[in-house]
Amino acid sequence: MQSYNPPIRDIRFVIHELVGAASICALPAYRASECDPALIDAVLDEAGKFAGEVLSPLNAIGDREGARWQPGSDGTGEVRTAPGFPEAYRRFVEGGWMALPCAPQFGGQGLPRLLATAVSEMWKGANLSFSHVITLTHGAIEALTIAGSDELKATYLPRLVSGEWTGTMNITEPQAGSDLAAIACRAEPQEDGTYRIFGQKIFITYGDHDIAPNIVHLVLARTPGAPPGVKGLSLFLVPKFILDAGGAPGARNDVHCASIEHKLGVHGSPTTTLVHGDHGGSLGYLIGEIGRGLEIMFVMMNSARLSVGTESLGVAQYAWQMASAYARERLQGSDGKSGGKVPIVRHPDVRRLLMTQRSTTEAIRALAYTIAGLQDVAHHAEDAEERQRAHRRVELLTPILKGWSTESAVDLTSMAIQVFGGMGFVEETGIAQCLRDVRITPIYEGTTAIQAADLAGRKLARDGGETLNAFLDEMRRDRAAMRTADDPTVRAIAEELARSLDDAASAADAIRQKMTSDPAAGLVVAEPFLRLMGTTVGGWLMGKAARVAAAALANGADDPFYAEKLATAKFYADHVLPRTAGLAMTVRSDDGLLLALADEVF
Ligand SMILES: Cc1cc2nc3c(=O)[nH]c(=O)nc-3n(C[C@H](O)[C@H](O)[C@H](O)COP(=O)(O)OP(=O)(O)OC[C@H]3O[C@@H](n4cnc5c(N)ncnc54)[C@H](O)[C@@H]3O)c2cc1C
Repeated sequence: MQSYNPPIRDIRFVIHELVGAASICALPAYRASECDPALIDAVLDEAGKFAGEVLSPLNAIGDREGARWQPGSDGTGEVRTAPGFPEAYRRFVEGGWMALPCAPQFGGQGLPRLLATAVSEMWKGANLSFSHVITLTHGAIEALTIAGSDELKATYLPRLVSGEWTGTMNITEPQAGSDLAAIACRAEPQEDGTYRIFGQKIFITYGDHDIAPNIVHLVLARTPGAPPGVKGLSLFLVPKFILDAGGAPGARNDVHCASIEHKLGVHGSPTTTLVHGDHGGSLGYLIGEIGRGLEIMFVMMNSARLSVGTESLGVAQYAWQMASAYARERLQGSDGKSGGKVPIVRHPDVRRLLMTQRSTTEAIRALAYTIAGLQDVAHHAEDAEERQRAHRRVELLTPILKGWSTESAVDLTSMAIQVFGGMGFVEETGIAQCLRDVRITPIYEGTTAIQAADLAGRKLARDGGETLNAFLDEMRRDRAAMRTADDPTVRAIAEELARSLDDAASAADAIRQKMTSDPAAGLVVAEPFLRLMGTTVGGWLMGKAARVAAAALANGADDPFYAEKLATAKFYADHVLPRTAGLAMTVRSDDGLLLALADEVF
């Protein structure tokens, strides 16, 4: 089985030449952390080694052995992670990797999100199940940093930032999945200002495990008399072990793992059912104000949504690597020129499959890192207006990345299986694991339908469409520059991009009108609209990448990478971008029929 090969050259290109690491490093916060492009390269190299040498070898073991639930010594359950996971996590923490993007005041290294995103692409590509604990811990750190009291921050953040303890997100309940208003967990106030939590949470990632001595659960629950719906939700910090007077994990809190799920994929990542309050209530501490829980949790969810986009990128990259290697080895048929059998990479359709995978994965990477760079600006630019603009752009692009890249990654990993033929359908080659693992990404952290509704409803309507229009204008300006490029490939890409930008603009108008006059009709086409936007944004970024590559070649660069980049961008423009025409037609179509049909028809 082919192990994960960190795509350092591609990553460096996007970080340095497309997004511009130098300008991100020049932001005051990163100047203070002494971050520069050389440091970024050194960190990428080390992360690549850790991903390839430590995490990748555990990927198949995690899949095969899985996390296991066992009866605990106190009569309740506990989780054992797959062999090798605890040791890998110990090395991860020792290497300081958890602290990389975190604030220095709590022990973090204060390095850019742009770099953190690249590093996490490698964790996710090498071992998606392992990477979950990092995603959830970073989400908990963000939520606590923004809303926690000084005391909670001082007590918990340094240990989460170091990775000594890990975090979780306790949202989902049996009756409350996409519909967070249905959350029913109760939080009873106590005289000393703490709370006791009662209720069941399901599907909680790394809700129990043996890789760290304490777990910090962030739990959404309802206080007595709270209004119905999401306005009645508050957020609580519930440690697995209550801290003793010296701040060390002491008595067991009343939150227990009742079971773990047996799943299609990510077997190495424990998905737990947590029962709060079977023995008097789990002890919880309020984070932020009563009734503001969802607002704070959204910080964690948005961070996790971007992270899930990066998950799909990592796995799609690994799947392409495996398919590409297999296509060079497997001999089958002839090409009509040489007499003997040829490697299947010579067959036109196999080339199409591989190039669709490679070019779309590159487009997803460009989008994920672009958003990460914008997050850095949104947090650290000196100018408040610039921060606000970047923040709004991140908000617009988040559902696009989460929805489009995860749905695309399912298709791309399925294509990788197609390249393997029958050997793709059997487990021994390892490619099937990629599809099984990546299949969760369009589901958790808000399904694609929820992302699409967020984009078509909230994000387009929020400021009268100003953010989207400014974004379309920027893409049009870049396309105008591509049109006048010296390189004919770049000019050809500009022609295709022009059509997709028109599709995006007309579809945005159509969906805006539908959402105003008949929201249900708008929601019928929200998912195609999201895909249209993702495909177009991918084409814009691939066009920009082609321009950079053409300029490098014109300046005498002899790295074959640049000619390959021009080729993948052209392929994307010819084979992927034109899909926007069909999607735009769907978005503009009249969907009265679908809504009028009786339920029995479906
Ligand atoms: C492996 C795994 C890990 C997870 N980790 C966590 C975790 O750490 N913490 C946590 O709290 N949760 C976690 N979850 C839960 C996950 O976030 C939910 O499964 C997800 O939000 C969907 O909710 P649901 O499963 O109840 O599906 P449902 O909400 O029942 O949705 C079923 C279908 O109906 C559609 N649908 C529902 N409502 C709407 C609507 N309003 N508009 C359009 N379509 C709609 C959905 O898109 C979907 O296609 C995890 C789940 C899994 C499988």
